[in-house]
Amino acid sequence: MIDLHTHSTVSDGSDPPAQIVALAAAADCRAVALTDHDRLDGVPEARAEAARRGLELVAGCELSCVWGPGTFHLLVYFLEPGLGPLQEHLTTLQGQRDERNHRLVARLQELGLPITFEEVEAEAGGAGIGRPHVAAVLVRKGVVASVAEAFDRWLAKGKPGYVRKATLEPGEAIDLALASGAVPVLAHPHSLGLEPGGLGPTLRELSERGLAGVECHYGAYQPEERAGLTALAGRLGLVATGGSDYHGRYKPDLSVGTGRGDLEVPDAVIDSLRERRAA
Ligand code: AMP
Ligand code: FE
Ligand code: FE
Ligand code: ZN
Repeated sequence: MIDLHTHSTVSDGSDPPAQIVALAAAADCRAVALTDHDRLDGVPEARAEAARRGLELVAGCELSCVWGPGTFHLLVYFLEPGLGPLQEHLTTLQGQRDERNHRLVARLQELGLPITFEEVEAEAGGAGIGRPHVAAVLVRKGVVASVAEAFDRWLAKGKPGYVRKATLEPGEAIDLALASGAVPVLAHPHSLGLEPGGLGPTLRELSERGLAGVECHYGAYQPEERAGLTALAGRLGLVATGGSDYHGRYKPDLSVGTGRGDLEVPDAVIDSLRERRAA
């Protein structure tokens, strides 16, 4: 078993990078990818812990891309910290996220909600602020009962508190990943919000652009959804990847390795991805 999608305190997860690796080891994972939003800062700590515990740490990150009406997230694997076009662009993405975070808090204040930027910063513990931190402050203030409700009522796309962030086009993100020697994979494909039958043509186009894989074994998907996506990936020659999208207490129903309890990403996926890197 492996897990190719996790978030730490470096972005919007609640566990430090080393703890993610410890949880992966406890779940009997042979490998785990750290895929914080827009940041590689957790990789050295996670890698040191992985070396101690004898499992493989895949360096990665998750990039938000321009897409309407749904959400397009690109997972990028084997992206080592250091020099490269995508690594250099991460600082721009972090700046755009920062700017969005300030506008988001201002919007919520305009809507009359009791929240300050300082509170959100304190929740996040500094860098890598995201909407789950805003949601957690709204829970603490009694505005909503859960992080999920904060998204449903205020923060999700189309809700009154939603504020768009400037970011990459999908094709640009794929190009940057490839130019950095990394492997781009589409995360949680159902979030694209496409009609049934729309996903195939879109994946074909992305594949022609250089997309290597699609996240079929996703923690929050049902077994039949995973099977359908895996069959589609096979027809298109894309690697059927997978992971839990673990965020610690911000997504309390998901565990490293096992997702909601029934996830099992095959070990061989990591070798298929590695071959795409060499290709
Ligand atoms: P951001 O990158 O700051 O725009 O926030 C996006 C993050 O919010 C995602 O990566 C998830 O961690 C989280 N998220 C998005 N939608 C939901 C939801 N409905 N419930 C809980 N968390 C969500
Ligand atoms: Fe997240
Ligand atoms: Fe995502
Ligand atoms: Zn994620």
